[in-house]
Amino acid sequence: MVPMYEGSIWRPPSEARSLILQATIGCSNNTCTFCGSYKSKKFRIKSLANLKEDVAVAKAYYRNVRRIFLADGDALVMKTSQFIETLDYLYEEFPNLERVGAYACPQNLLQKSVDELQMLQDHGLGIIYLGVETGLESLLEKVRKGVTRNEMREAGSKVVTAGIPLSVTIIIGLGGPDLSESHARETASLLNSMSPDYVGALTLMLVEGTDLYTEYGNGQFHLLAPEETLRELYWLIESLECTTMFRSNHASNYIPLGGDLPQDKSRLLQEIKTALKTGNLKSEYLRGL
Ligand code: SF4
Repeated sequence: MVPMYEGSIWRPPSEARSLILQATIGCSNNTCTFCGSYKSKKFRIKSLANLKEDVAVAKAYYRNVRRIFLADGDALVMKTSQFIETLDYLYEEFPNLERVGAYACPQNLLQKSVDELQMLQDHGLGIIYLGVETGLESLLEKVRKGVTRNEMREAGSKVVTAGIPLSVTIIIGLGGPDLSESHARETASLLNSMSPDYVGALTLMLVEGTDLYTEYGNGQFHLLAPEETLRELYWLIESLECTTMFRSNHASNYIPLGGDLPQDKSRLLQEIKTALKTGNLKSEYLRGL
């Protein structure tokens, strides 16, 4: 049997019970200063023939597959025709399949039309995960995301217009103490203009081997203290005006938060205030677990 996976596999928390298939290897962008997920992988798109070999292996273990997540970092980089062929094949092979999801880089989405995205939805693409990280123009540039704020907005809005559920992540602490409030407020304003279905707020954890880790080592970048992290999260939620399901309950976060916005906004803000007052936060050495 061929080994199914190449290198480490990353997936959104909500895909924990999904069958993961690597439609691509690595990330076609791979420039972000904070991200070490795909540093060791040379990017390539898998052929459908190769993917079929993985499916044959998977079928020996998993029979009743309802959800599939297409890894690695940006499966949406595939040409629309190949993506459609892949989706059709997967729905044929797994009769109980209900949803296929994938990560996208903003660049992938900018290269696709809304019509193409709608076609992908018609063929069963049920959710797209997009790393927005920040809405602060200068910070997007600093972390080398490779797109401007307007391009990021366009990328996310295309998914929403196409009617595909959009789940975005942003990173608390990415701008360090100096940019903390502007990062929070500008990110909220970008999300307000994009209206994603889901927002996940992670907290920055430095990854060895990344440029940001080196900047930190050189004293060019400073981490937020836990209380500053919560204050930034407070500013973010306070400024969010879109209707979305908000989660900040990742292993990286100091307190678990979750609710529907706008109706749960005051509760979420109160929970942050209480945590700041009591100091009841996850200890540093338990973060990431
Ligand atoms: S685009 Fe996403 S996966 Fe690729 S390097 Fe940036 S954060 Fe990592």
